Amino acid sequence: MIDPKSNPSFDGHEDVVFVGGEAQGFAGIIAIHSTVLGPSAGGCRIWDYDSADDALTDALRLSRGMTYKNAMAELPLGGGKAVIYRINTDRADAFHKFGEAVERLNGRYITAEDVGATVSDMRAIARATSYVAGIPKEHGQAGGDPSPWTALGVHLSIKALLGGSVQGRTVAVQGVGAVGYHLCKLLAEEGAKLIVADVNRTNLQRAEALGVEIAPVDQIHAVGADLFSPCALGAGLNARTIPELGAPIVCGAANNQLATEDDGARLVARGVTYAPDYVVNAGGIINVSAEYLGETEAAVDARVRAIAPRLLRVLETAKSENLTPHQAADRIVRERLASRGKTRA
Ligand code: NAD
Repeated sequence: MIDPKSNPSFDGHEDVVFVGGEAQGFAGIIAIHSTVLGPSAGGCRIWDYDSADDALTDALRLSRGMTYKNAMAELPLGGGKAVIYRINTDRADAFHKFGEAVERLNGRYITAEDVGATVSDMRAIARATSYVAGIPKEHGQAGGDPSPWTALGVHLSIKALLGGSVQGRTVAVQGVGAVGYHLCKLLAEEGAKLIVADVNRTNLQRAEALGVEIAPVDQIHAVGADLFSPCALGAGLNARTIPELGAPIVCGAANNQLATEDDGARLVARGVTYAPDYVVNAGGIINVSAEYLGETEAAVDARVRAIAPRLLRVLETAKSENLTPHQAADRIVRERLASRGKTRA
């Protein structure tokens, strides 16, 4: 049996539960990092990991990330995440059994969609538990596609970073998928000049209709712009790309943009302002959690509009305390957790 505590990504997690098994036809892990601020919430990722150890590492890392993202967004939720790394039975049956495992946790973990999962998987889970979000609701209720909300939070953050208007400013967008496309639309509507790159031809064509300029995929971070917005994969800010950055500000939706902790300091040394990813990309989780919490779309809108002023406060803290923006954000979260009487700092 793998011992989660011996994994380098273990961070005082409250609980790590191995779910499924040979007889159940699937294998997964539910990691509960923190319930200090509320039930732990975070999606269920389906991925073909090389080993159960790799799956555990991801579950530990991602669940910790959810604690930070949820706390920063001032949601009444802690951080958790599930990964399913093997399914060798009927898919709906596997998700139903996974739902039973979630139910046994009595609400300490709330699941939702993540990479590799679908709405129909969530429906299968919902047959076994009510601790699940991501099932389309009636008109007017919060729920549905989180990407437009993520894009709105990033858009308003970009606007704040550019002094209140994007009119005539150049934004380089890396990745025009679900979030990147919505972001480009909002920016184009307000008169920004857009340069974009994507490895997916179809997504690129959809963005072209917005009047964007196309840059090569390996050059988008280096094009001259007022702001660079990573909206593709993680680890895009690293020892190779940071010296080549063509914009003085970075603000995008991608998760885990810094390849390593050192890259935060590298950005500061280059004089680049970095908007910590989990501060600005919380629109999606805000929308998903509102569905679970029974909030309205108006409440989601208000929470998403709080992101940009919060970002500015994080950047001020970083400046006044000589921290990188990411360190300042982490510190704010740890203080929030500690003020609730328990801390894992
Ligand atoms: P997506 O898969 O719809 O879009 C990603 C896009 O990036 C795709 O068009 C893909 O072709 C492109 N891409 C991949 N590799 C690239 C490369 N090397 N260069 C340029 N483009 C590349 O995903 P999404 O939902 O738009 O999410 C984008 C990012 O934002 C991810 O990191 C995701 O984890 C993060 N995020 C998304 C949400 C959300 O609400 N969807 C919320 C928070 C964070």
